[in-house]
Amino acid sequence: DTLINQIAAGEVVERPASVVKELVENALDAGARRVDIDLEEGGVRLIRIRDDGAGISPEELPLAISRHATSKIASLDDLEGVTTLGFRGEALPSIASVSRFALSSRRIGEDRGAMLEVDGGRVGEIAPKPHPQGTTVEVRDLFFNVPARRKFLKAERTELGHIEEWLRQLALARPDVELRVSHNGKPTRRWKGEGDLVDMGLSDTRISEALGEEFAKNALRVEHSGADLRLHGWIAQPSYNRASADQQYLYVNGRAVRDRSIAHAVKQAYADVLFHGRQPAYVLFLELDPRRVDVNVHPAKHEVRFRDARLIHDFVYRTLNDALAETRA
Ligand code: ADP
Ligand code: MG
Repeated sequence: DTLINQIAAGEVVERPASVVKELVENALDAGARRVDIDLEEGGVRLIRIRDDGAGISPEELPLAISRHATSKIASLDDLEGVTTLGFRGEALPSIASVSRFALSSRRIGEDRGAMLEVDGGRVGEIAPKPHPQGTTVEVRDLFFNVPARRKFLKAERTELGHIEEWLRQLALARPDVELRVSHNGKPTRRWKGEGDLVDMGLSDTRISEALGEEFAKNALRVEHSGADLRLHGWIAQPSYNRASADQQYLYVNGRAVRDRSIAHAVKQAYADVLFHGRQPAYVLFLELDPRRVDVNVHPAKHEVRFRDARLIHDFVYRTLNDALAETRA
């Protein structure tokens, strides 16, 4: 089984940033309000993610690290309308098969915590361990037992950069959650939680924290609904002259994705009203019935497939075209 998990890890775990992504997404799925992220040596030596979410019962710990055991969907019907970030049940077993791994937790409403260690896929015994409500996952020495993968890891700064970029992407979508990051024992970043925002994603503070005040000052706020679709967020106006292709954030039902068709719609709307040839900078959230989008396209879930891709493309194009045209009028 370790071998199968290691093979799966090839798809899910590319580098420390992918581990951080999977673990923080689990924390968010568990309803965490605060997530602490401690890193050493760009995450290669240590990734420790601690959350204050619902936690895991001692007897459920082995399930959490079992392949395709997910608590998030129970049937194919659920998969059709999945609303959690995770659902494939392969992140923890994959990560645990290529690291020295420890899962500690205390379930909400229970008074005892427990811990389970896995060493390169070898599962230990459940042991009692005091723990506040929530979960801590420790991942040490990533790829220590897969030299071929370890060899491809980049310098500490590069790996840290990938983690920070992913956290920025997350922070933009979840201003309601506090994220605290440390690297080699020093606090490096703190994204303060902004309480229970009804309108998730539309936070002025987070926007300027994440993309800079220049972006926040020059961005046009977008908010439009129609055809059971909602597009909201920000797109930079021509006055913003630092736009580049790496300031393009797109979320579908809260999940950061890459989508050529939507990227094209945004670019086209921008070019038609404002500038030809210039990259638009944006943070856009598309919300739609989860049944209209398939998120199970790739193990890392960077991509989605829409039932009615053409309609969505046109909706995004039209919305942005109208919004931008108005600023010109
Ligand atoms: P998935 O997220 O696709 O369900 P994972 O392998 O990432 O699969 O996690 C397996 C299971 O472990 C989850 O379904 C969940 O029940 C449990 N789990 C993992 N991380 C946490 C966490 N931080 N808090 C509570 N439960 C967790
Ligand atoms: Mg998961």
